Amino acid sequence: MAERVETESGPFCYAIGLEVHAQIVSSSKLFSGASTAFGADANTQVSAVDAGMPGMLPVINMACIEQAVRTGLALGGAVNRRSVFERKNYFYPDLPQGYQISQYQQPLVTGGQLVIELEDGTSRSIGIERLHVEQDAGKSLHDRDPDHSLVDLNRSGIGLMEIVSLPELESPDEAVRYVRTLRSILRYAGTCDGNMQEGSLRVDANVSMRRPGEGLGTRCEIKNLNSLRFLQRAIEFEGHRQATILDEGGTVRQETRLFDVDANETRSMRSKEDAEDYRYFPDPDLLPLDLDEAWIAGIAASMPELPDARKQRFMSGHGLSSYDAGVLVAERDNADFFEEVARGRDSKQAANWVMTELFGRLNHDGIAITDSPVSADALGGLIDLIVDGTISGRIAKDVFAEMFATGRQAAVIVEERGLRQVTDTARIEALVDGVLAAHPDRVDEYRAGKTKLLGFFMGEVMKASQGRANPQAVNRTLCLRLEAEEGTR
Ligand code: MN
Repeated sequence: MAERVETESGPFCYAIGLEVHAQIVSSSKLFSGASTAFGADANTQVSAVDAGMPGMLPVINMACIEQAVRTGLALGGAVNRRSVFERKNYFYPDLPQGYQISQYQQPLVTGGQLVIELEDGTSRSIGIERLHVEQDAGKSLHDRDPDHSLVDLNRSGIGLMEIVSLPELESPDEAVRYVRTLRSILRYAGTCDGNMQEGSLRVDANVSMRRPGEGLGTRCEIKNLNSLRFLQRAIEFEGHRQATILDEGGTVRQETRLFDVDANETRSMRSKEDAEDYRYFPDPDLLPLDLDEAWIAGIAASMPELPDARKQRFMSGHGLSSYDAGVLVAERDNADFFEEVARGRDSKQAANWVMTELFGRLNHDGIAITDSPVSADALGGLIDLIVDGTISGRIAKDVFAEMFATGRQAAVIVEERGLRQVTDTARIEALVDGVLAAHPDRVDEYRAGKTKLLGFFMGEVMKASQGRANPQAVNRTLCLRLEAEEGTR
């Protein structure tokens, strides 16, 4: 929700636009056949093209373009039949070509929107200006050698999608929600793994402040934020910094800033270049990218179900609350797991077990759902044992803990440890009679009107059965017995 920064002279509102660099899921780079695998030894995945050797010709990797088209469609954008790769010229030690091949005047995708859900449950649609495709740069290493800076070109030439939003986000929290939602969509579409630690998703935030009702103010761009926490903190700091300047009658200088994580502040990096400083021009080594309508339609036809649609389906088809559905669909793997558990079973019960017990343990142990020691099938098996009365819900939690620790099936654990629920009437009556006989004074108190002692009797019988007695049957039997004794008096 819109957030304001209060100053002596009145409030200021945020206007935030985000540029997200999302690494394309592809086994090879945008213009070369070199591998994109993460974590290889430095400079082992570098072709002559990626190293900027003179005379090398880039060859477009259509698998990357297909991914970017899929992403554009997922964001509701218009895929342009013709787009053009241009050279963005600048010098940087990790950019051996002396330019980055990017798209400028004619991007691959124009327009689109992303719907973010706000804290109060309402939602806002944020406009997307464009999505273009470009190469990543290499990486300078300043901490490997006491006398030199080194460069690792493994990342050089990897395909990126730059997704640019309109400056329509109105608070640091909205910016975080936008990135979280975008990340979820990218992962569903299978076009970016969204791994912020590995740099697969990096965010530049354009922040400006204005008084309510005024037009956009001068913006500053905060570069390369690689976690949602830093994104939030950087925008907060920047908003307050600019509001203070404006409040005191100063002017904000357009510039590029860095977020210093340790100092928790943004710092000036360079005064902002405008686009003309880069001397963009169409790359003479690459023809314009002309896409076939039928090819685009084929990609559109093969789109997977996206999180929003899936959430709606979980609400209408499975009867889940908006909150539960939202939690389950955020990660595709979680949603898949839930659906497998819920197949042929009660959806709410399945959601409960997945969200409370399973997620609880996975989070606690830091295990990904794809590595869960309890499979969807196994969890379904446990739920079946509750439903058919073999075990109580209470015992099921113990069984689940053992399944999680050992990876064994529920039915095996139940048999081995003799956890079958006692539903046999004669045995339950015997247990109840035993407990009542052991506490004659309490029985008298109950009869005298202290009926909340029922809980005490329940507890004793359950204890005597090691938790295995069917609670409904115990309750029923206890009430009958206590009333009957009263009646016979
Ligand atoms: Mn870029």
